[in-house]
Amino acid sequence: MIVQLTVLGCYGPYPAAGKACSGYLLQEDGCSLLLDCGNGVFSRLQEHFPFYQLAAVFLSHLHADHISDIFVMRYGLEMAYKKGLRSEPLLLYAPVEPVAEFSRLSYKNAYRVEPLAERGELTVGPFKIYTAPGIHAVSSLAMRVECSKKKFAYSADTEYYPDLVDLARGVNFFLCEANYREEDIRAGLSNHLSAAQAAGIAREAGVDRLVLTHHHPERDPEGAVREAEKIFPKVEAAREGETYIIQEGTNQ
Ligand SMILES: [Zn+2]
Repeated sequence: MIVQLTVLGCYGPYPAAGKACSGYLLQEDGCSLLLDCGNGVFSRLQEHFPFYQLAAVFLSHLHADHISDIFVMRYGLEMAYKKGLRSEPLLLYAPVEPVAEFSRLSYKNAYRVEPLAERGELTVGPFKIYTAPGIHAVSSLAMRVECSKKKFAYSADTEYYPDLVDLARGVNFFLCEANYREEDIRAGLSNHLSAAQAAGIAREAGVDRLVLTHHHPERDPEGAVREAEKIFPKVEAAREGETYIIQEGTNQ
């Protein structure tokens, strides 16, 4: 079975011109999950997949660059019900804090909003999803997804924390934010990882492949790759519109 990830948007905290914020389509056979739904993602999603066939959406955290198109996709879902293209509300998992943001997610019968536990384990179709709490301005959950012996992890937005190494341990594909460079960390900036930190986590966790994401709109993503590859050579920058096949043991 092929497990694949399509990058719909990979910028934050706002998009560069013509780009989109965080959104990733994870698919296996007939089951499709959307991880994060930032601005520009709903439009991009429709270039790849009939959105009304999604099995579930997972929001890593409730910042606008990861959730804003949730408030637009709901109109599309409403239309899909009217046209008979969908009969059930779309499962939407999200951290419960901040409470005011969580309570805004519900809309008519568009979504069935479910809390995403900080250290949870759940199953959607063929996917097993594990969560771990990161360190960010708001509650932010990293995810590990396993399916047909393929293992994938997504850091979400976070500072460095040792548990992220455990969550990403041995995965075939590690999608890790790298909003900063080392100079930012030295300057004392918080809330995000540098490319070097992402590479350090990838090396320690023994992942097969590292893909850097959450590109800063005013910096060249290739600069992040140059910083990371000194520590972990099998690294690349996420590219919008690209579909990546998640393969077992690509470094063996
Ligand atoms: Zn973000």
